[in-house]
Amino acid sequence: MSLKMDYSSFPRDCHTMDTLERQLICPICLEMFSKPVVILPCQHNLCRKCANDIFQVSCGPSRGTTLGSSGRFRCPSCRHEVVLDRHGVYGLQRNLLVENIIDIYKQESPLLKPECPTCEEHEDEKINIYCVTCRVPTCSLCKVFGEHQACRVAPLSDVYEQHKSELTDGIRTLVASNERIQALIAELQNTCRNVEDNCKARKQTLCEKFERMAGILEERKEIMLQRVSYEQAEKTRQLRALSEAYEARVEATSKLVNTALQASEEPQVPLFLQVGR
Ligand SMILES: [Zn+2]
Ligand SMILES: [Zn+2]
Ligand SMILES: [Zn+2]
Ligand SMILES: [Zn+2]
Repeated sequence: MSLKMDYSSFPRDCHTMDTLERQLICPICLEMFSKPVVILPCQHNLCRKCANDIFQVSCGPSRGTTLGSSGRFRCPSCRHEVVLDRHGVYGLQRNLLVENIIDIYKQESPLLKPECPTCEEHEDEKINIYCVTCRVPTCSLCKVFGEHQACRVAPLSDVYEQHKSELTDGIRTLVASNERIQALIAELQNTCRNVEDNCKARKQTLCEKFERMAGILEERKEIMLQRVSYEQAEKTRQLRALSEAYEARVEATSKLVNTALQASEEPQVPLFLQVGR
């Protein structure tokens, strides 16, 4: 008995999934088969509930949800057409092997039980299509009878692929922009190092220039101080010489005054006149 199925629309990362688990996914609800599981003449399996859902929808709203109506049914995996009798999908053979495998699988890995969100409007109805108009995932009944009747819908898997590719593009863009920013940061750090080196060199040049100028100034200072000292010595020498000359003159004058005073005290007229000459 074949368990072959079409996974092209399966919206999960199949590579990471256990092969067995992948074999147990319903092509309609994209969840692990829920019992009862029916097998079509083309050997593809479906949840009976899912098969009934699409059978009822394909029959049109006028048929309602009446069970057990005859009609044509297309396998969602291979498009093979099956003519159903008055029992509808309830007339299809159950695949007990698959049901047993699911039981064992669920016992073995209770944590792997896939959670399946259901419609808030239609209890037990799985979210299995996407309303493009309202941008929300919804159920087929909402599209056929409910609030999304007038809306444009798309298969969940298509929207998933589209969103995923948008996300991938977004990630790629972010990574690329991060790389650009990293390059910019590296450039800035490089510039920073250059500025540091440049300023260091300029500081050194400035210091050298100022040291040279300070040397020149020191030399000049010495020369100018020496010049002042020389001038001081020269002027002092001249002034002392002048001062000594005047002192000599004062001494000579004093001697003359003394002589004159002595002469003026001479009582003898002839002697006075002799001295006074
Ligand atoms: Zn199903
Ligand atoms: Zn098929
Ligand atoms: Zn619904
Ligand atoms: Zn809508």
